[in-house]
Amino acid sequence: MPKISEPIYVAAHQLKSPITIIKEYVQILYSEDLGSLNKKQKEYLEDVLKNIEQMQRITSGLLDASLVESRVYKLNIQPVDLVKTTMDIIDKFSILAKSFNCNIIFSKPDNIPLVSTDPQKIREVIENFVSNAIKYRPAGHRNVEIKLQKKKDKVLFSCSDDGIGISPKDAKKIFSKFFRTEEAVKIDPTGTGLGLYINKAIIELSGGKIWFKNNKNKGITFYFILPII
Ligand code: ADP
Repeated sequence: MPKISEPIYVAAHQLKSPITIIKEYVQILYSEDLGSLNKKQKEYLEDVLKNIEQMQRITSGLLDASLVESRVYKLNIQPVDLVKTTMDIIDKFSILAKSFNCNIIFSKPDNIPLVSTDPQKIREVIENFVSNAIKYRPAGHRNVEIKLQKKKDKVLFSCSDDGIGISPKDAKKIFSKFFRTEEAVKIDPTGTGLGLYINKAIIELSGGKIWFKNNKNKGITFYFILPII
């Protein structure tokens, strides 16, 4: 563990173990190994588990953001298959997308070479883009389109949605730590504003670039480009 004295890092680090222990005990209760539960008790434990997972996301976001800020964030760079990673993520998000009445479009491209990045961290980047694209939109049917393209010695990833987009005034701050638009806070009060800040560090430490554009009609497209291995 790097030596960082920043209070946020220390607090998040101290919270990690108790949260893990609480989760383990709740999972044991939920499994009914210690006795059966009635419907209401199971429902309450499901809520408890969801909130514990939210706490885990927050603490891990705070830890990563502190490491980025202290310039000691480290990646484990390896050859990564972005097609496979993207397909796994789409699969993982299929239930959530359905519950938001959202269609994820991805035409599996051929001949996308392996890129050089951290396999676990790039998964988190794509998951963040996809979950934001599903989440930040008005009610009604929505589309999210993901593309992967080879561009000379790089691979370009894009995730485009038809959601709320971002105003020019907020656009400058979108990759800043803890930044969230007022509209986003209304849609999801539980967000942290850390995802894009960490995404930027992951892409840049992999030797790539990250950016976004508001779409002509509505919504936003996030891009990153990574070097081929
Ligand atoms: P969080 O989603 O927890 O707020 P992020 O760092 O992932 O944190 O996003 C930061 C902010 O950027 C969001 O709160 C929202 O204001 C804006 N944002 C991100 N993705 C989108 C999107 N697809 N459409 C509109 N706004 C977005």
